[in-house]
Amino acid sequence: MKKVALVTGASRGIGRAIAIALAEYDFSVACFARDREKLDETAALITAAGGTASVHTGDVGNDEDLEKLVAAVTDLHGGIDVLVNNAGITEGAAAKNISPARFREVLNINLVAPWVLSRAVQPVMKARGGGVIINVGSTYGSTGVANNSPYCSSKAGIEGLTRALAREWARDQIRVICVAPGFVKTDMVGDNFAGTDVEKLVVSRIPMKRFGEADEIAQLIAFLSTSKAGFVTGETLVIDGGQRSLI
Ligand code: NAP
Repeated sequence: MKKVALVTGASRGIGRAIAIALAEYDFSVACFARDREKLDETAALITAAGGTASVHTGDVGNDEDLEKLVAAVTDLHGGIDVLVNNAGITEGAAAKNISPARFREVLNINLVAPWVLSRAVQPVMKARGGGVIINVGSTYGSTGVANNSPYCSSKAGIEGLTRALAREWARDQIRVICVAPGFVKTDMVGDNFAGTDVEKLVVSRIPMKRFGEADEIAQLIAFLSTSKAGFVTGETLVIDGGQRSLI
């Protein structure tokens, strides 16, 4: 019987790569996001390679959608062994130009939703004798950056959430880990930088002189999801081409 992984934000970018990598590791993968068409593309890539995938649509910002998601995935696949809280949004503006409502929205999607979903999944994992929750953070959670205060706050928060839930649920053999990428060229980064001098400046500051690949993040997450990483919990693993070590 295959183990079951649920990935949020699996419609594109890093989340799609995570879903594909987990399928390569022989997980049945439940793919969640809002865009049905793009989720279907992710699922088609998985099934074309011989894997198993299901598609579930909804908004991580909506608690009811998350409750329904856990029930649907549990019904369909018989349980959940791995949860990857990957869905995220950013906000590139100076603090004075961000409304409190927008600050709360970013916190809601990037930090509150992972807490709500982890909390809903925890009893399912406990009943199966354990599980793994991987939160996708960011190097900005520890370094901070100008003009992105809601995002930096949410990503610092997810590291704290990881440490707290890891300690709370360790006795249930549920591991909670944060993976914090540096720059990876996806829609999130492309929107801001594509082809500009800023992009060149960013790359020049990465010791490896390139962006990370979504699959490089995904492969680390897939490995951490297996029992081979069975004693890793409560930690944040940075994957950024050496950038943070220089700051
Ligand atoms: P992306 O290409 O913009 O993809 C974001 C994903 O999140 C999409 O699948 C999107 O799906 C989903 N999503 C956003 N809001 C959602 C909502 N309300 N409900 C459900 N799904 C939602 O971003 P990415 O670069 O792959 O980022 C993935 C994760 O990596 C994020 O947590 C991000 O903070 C983190 N990260 C990225 C980088 C980077 O350089 N790219 C660096 C560090 C950390 P739909 O639009 O279909 O709903």
